[in-house]
Amino acid sequence: MMSAAQDASNTSSVTSNFIDLTHNLSPTTTLIYPGDPSFVLSPISTHKEHGASIKKVEMGTHTGTHIDAPFHFVEDGKTVDQLELTKDLLSKEIWMIDFTVPPRGKEGLNLQERQKIEWDDIKPHLPKDLKNLNSRVVLFYTGWSKSFYHLASPHAAEKYFSHPFLSAKVAQHLLDLGVRVIGLDIPSPDETPAFTGDAAIQQASVCPCPTPGHADASVKASTAETYPFHIAFLSAGAGIVENMANLDLLAAAIRNSEYDVTDECDTNSDPGEERRKRWLVSVAPLRLEGADGSPVRAFASLC
Ligand SMILES: [Zn+2]
Repeated sequence: MMSAAQDASNTSSVTSNFIDLTHNLSPTTTLIYPGDPSFVLSPISTHKEHGASIKKVEMGTHTGTHIDAPFHFVEDGKTVDQLELTKDLLSKEIWMIDFTVPPRGKEGLNLQERQKIEWDDIKPHLPKDLKNLNSRVVLFYTGWSKSFYHLASPHAAEKYFSHPFLSAKVAQHLLDLGVRVIGLDIPSPDETPAFTGDAAIQQASVCPCPTPGHADASVKASTAETYPFHIAFLSAGAGIVENMANLDLLAAAIRNSEYDVTDECDTNSDPGEERRKRWLVSVAPLRLEGADGSPVRAFASLC
C-alpha cells in the first residue's frame, strides 16, 4: 500500500514545476462513496497466457479523483462530454483556500468531523477588496484526506466520509464571484450522509442514490435537502472536482510563489525577460457520452 508521503515523493507525480493532483485508482486503496459501485480492475488476457495484457475496468462515474458535471443533479444540465475543456478546465488560474493555515488576522479553523464551513470562514482567505475571481478554479484544501485516504480500512473510510463540508450559501457566493469550477480534497462539498456497516471500500454495487430525472417529488425534495451545494452550483452550469490529491503540496508551492489575485499569467512576455511564474490547474475528464461525471487526471503546472 502506498502512503501519501510515498505518493508525493514519486518524481513523476511531483517535480519542481508539476504536481499531480490525482489519487491512484486501486481496488485496495480507492475509497468508494457510500452506495456507489466498487472499483474493479480484472485481467481479460495476460502476458503469460495470451502474450499481451488487457484488463477490464468497472467503476462508477464518481470514482477516485473525478468531476461532477451539471447533469449529475440537473436533468437538462451539461453532461461530462459537453464540458468546455479550454474555457473551464485546462490551464486555469487558481485561488487556493487553505484551511490548514490561519488566514490573515484570524485563527485557523482546525476542522472537525462534519463541520459546516460557512462563507464567513472563507472570506478571510480572499483578498479584502475582491470583486470577482475571474473564472479561477477555486481549490479547497481542508487537510482531511491526508491521513485517511491511503488507509484501506473500514475506520479510514468512515473517517474520510465524515469530512467537513461547505454551507450551501457558499455556492452562491462563489457563483457571484464568477467561479465556474471548484476542487476539493474531500469526497463532496455537501455533508455525506452517515452510512452503516462495513467500509465504503468495495461496497456492493447497489446504488440507493435517487436518479435525477427519474425521481418522484418526495425523492427530489430529499435529494435537494441532502445535496444543497451540489444542486446550487451545478444548476448554474458549474463543475465540482472531488477527492483531489496533493493539495497540501500545491498550497505550499503557491504560498512560496507569492502571487496575487490581480496577477495575470503573461505568456506573451519576451522570453529573455524574467517573468513571474504561476501555478495553473488542469482537469481532464474522460469523454463519456451522456455521463454525469468522470474520473479525471488533474494536475498543476507552472507556466
Ligand atoms: Zn461526484
